Amino acid sequence: MGKRVTIVGGGVIGLCCAYYLQKKGHEVLVIDKGDITKGTSFGNAGYVSPSHFIPLASPGIVSKGLRWMLSSSSPFYIKPRLDADLIRWGFTFWKNANEKTMHRNIPHLHNLLQLSRELMTEITNDIGNHFRMAEVGCFMLYKSAATEKHELALSKQAARLGLQTRIFNASQVQEMEPELEVNVRGGVLYPADCHLHPGDFMRTLKLQLESAGVRFQLGTQVDKFEKNGRRINTVITANGKFDCDELVLATGCWLPIITKQLGIYILMQAGKGYSLTYQNMKKNLHYPAILVDDRVAMTPMGKDLRMGGTMEISGINNRVLLKRAEAIFRASKNYYPDLAVEFPEKERIWSGLRPLSPDGLPYIGRADNYSNLTIAGGHAMLGLSLAAGTGKLVEEIINSTKTSVDISSFAVDRFG
Ligand SMILES: Cc1cc2nc3c(=O)[nH]c(=O)nc-3n(C[C@H](O)[C@H](O)[C@H](O)COP(=O)(O)OP(=O)(O)OC[C@H]3O[C@@H](n4cnc5c(N)ncnc54)[C@H](O)[C@@H]3O)c2cc1C
Repeated sequence: MGKRVTIVGGGVIGLCCAYYLQKKGHEVLVIDKGDITKGTSFGNAGYVSPSHFIPLASPGIVSKGLRWMLSSSSPFYIKPRLDADLIRWGFTFWKNANEKTMHRNIPHLHNLLQLSRELMTEITNDIGNHFRMAEVGCFMLYKSAATEKHELALSKQAARLGLQTRIFNASQVQEMEPELEVNVRGGVLYPADCHLHPGDFMRTLKLQLESAGVRFQLGTQVDKFEKNGRRINTVITANGKFDCDELVLATGCWLPIITKQLGIYILMQAGKGYSLTYQNMKKNLHYPAILVDDRVAMTPMGKDLRMGGTMEISGINNRVLLKRAEAIFRASKNYYPDLAVEFPEKERIWSGLRPLSPDGLPYIGRADNYSNLTIAGGHAMLGLSLAAGTGKLVEEIINSTKTSVDISSFAVDRFG
């Protein structure tokens, strides 16, 4: 007998949870404060990338971040402010950004990335590829010798995890991109990565869920809950009350705000990023690529091209800092000199908020103090890459079956 499962949050994580829960016969309701058309899960770079097995909290990232903060056009920025949550998050991030913790976390992130990558193929076969998914891999491109050394070391680490890589010099990269000049020293291709149009993926998935009977309550912010001991019985909103047997919170960077209502303290910061999208390119890239020296992601999506990047930790807002968006654009021209694109008007620059945990791993699991609450959030720059696996894990948690991968490292209360 299916349970009534309410999912708060209709981003890619919430929708993938809905997908797997509905498949198991549960009665699913998705509630979102927005209209699910343009948030973080829509304008991102569209990578589903097992190649990203290094968690954000890694050695050297703090000192690099501090150096970057001195430049207004660098790929990283923290707005200095006296905020207890930010200070605690920053301290915990710094404590986790070391070799030992990173090596402990890599296999867990890798397992979830692998699971998600496999499931993305299954989901695509099930709902149809209406979102331009292309399984051609992803390039890590570099210009400097130091970055090359770093990327070659990473490719060896990838091989130890069983990931295939192919190393290219400048002219070999150029051969792979016949339409555009590529100005690089070389690159590493991760053939197992794939990419898609994230907005089209979200729209296709939502249509599929609706036709399978999942209900959507949009424009509805969840503020409160009715509880009975360790059970949450009802979700309260300005548009009515919704009873549930199981509750899933998948509210992206708003997770700490909603869990606070339930007495659960989650460490999270929003990491803003931008993307610029160009339609109907006459000459386009054949391969997605991360321009590693500049931390910019380039993604061909059929005839369209998207470029994205930057990480601004400046709270929950959608203010656009032009200098940082310009830096993304400049980097694209620097690597692909004859790319026919112009810097867009400010209104056309998309921004989204990555939900950042302080160790680079998501929060997936039951919250200790409740018997029917599951949390799924904090996927940082990997939400699309980890969504399918997260959805499957949430279904397994709710059905009390053995999880596909060990979830102990994703524990909601791991920071106390
Ligand atoms: C520039 C950029 C590029 C990126 N590129 C990639 C990439 O290539 N690959 C990748 O894997 N990831 C990428 N990411 C990260 C990815 O986009 C995110 O990790 C992912 O979208 C997070 O999904 P989510 O469902 O957790 O959150 P969201 O998409 O933010 O969804 C959360 C939802 O919860 C709703 N909500 C919040 N609070 C409430 C409430 N109280 N009541 C009701 N509803 C509520 C919100 O309205 C929102 O719709 C990128 C991010 C950025 C910014």
